[in-house]
Amino acid sequence: MNVKDNLKVIQDEIESVTAHAPTIIAVTKYVTIDRAQEAYDAGLRHFGENRIEGFLEKKAALPSEATFHFIGSLQTRKVKEVINEVDYLHSLDRQSLADEVEKRAEHTIKCFVQVNVAGEDSKHGFAPEEVIAFVKGLQGFEKIEVVGLMMMAPHIEDQIQLRTYFAELKELQHQVAALGQSNAPCKELSMGMSNDYLSAISEGSTFIRIGTKLVG
Ligand SMILES: *Cc1c(COP(=O)(O)O)cnc(C)c1O
Repeated sequence: MNVKDNLKVIQDEIESVTAHAPTIIAVTKYVTIDRAQEAYDAGLRHFGENRIEGFLEKKAALPSEATFHFIGSLQTRKVKEVINEVDYLHSLDRQSLADEVEKRAEHTIKCFVQVNVAGEDSKHGFAPEEVIAFVKGLQGFEKIEVVGLMMMAPHIEDQIQLRTYFAELKELQHQVAALGQSNAPCKELSMGMSNDYLSAISEGSTFIRIGTKLVG
């Protein structure tokens, strides 16, 4: 399927569940530069990659109007290779990473704090109860703006349980926003992928990260 048709299907589904359409991030990690360009030509302007090489390659190839999201786990020693090309970092998942971003970034990086809501061993991110203290500790960090929270949901069939996890992240987002910290407005929620974005949107997601269903 071409990207334009996939996008239309997704947009129609989104419209059926909410009047507040989230920003769609085209996750191009599985596809070629040509396919990413096709997504751009279909009108998409937000792109996500989870590895440094792919990120830099797609960013160099696409028009400069595109906004680039780094969505993968980022090793501390590799921050300097990529951070100044990043518009949004979705994987702020530990203090050492925050320290390195603060040291290496030359512009303010819009960051999502990654939260491991379901407590899965295989996933990165803070436990929910650690998030407030972590964000408070970022006071005075000039290169980090906590724009929101991010999660990767577990692969489960139980839709009610799934929505509980999304709702939990939304509740936590409100708590962080309520701190009123100047570098942590925390208005956004990065949640929802190909197999769960409608549930995520129903619970208030503002950025969905779609790979398979959109570009392949
Ligand atoms: C790959 C990836 C996605 C997109 O996954 P799909 O299931 O292909 O939509 C979203 N978020 C992150 C962090 C990813 O690594």
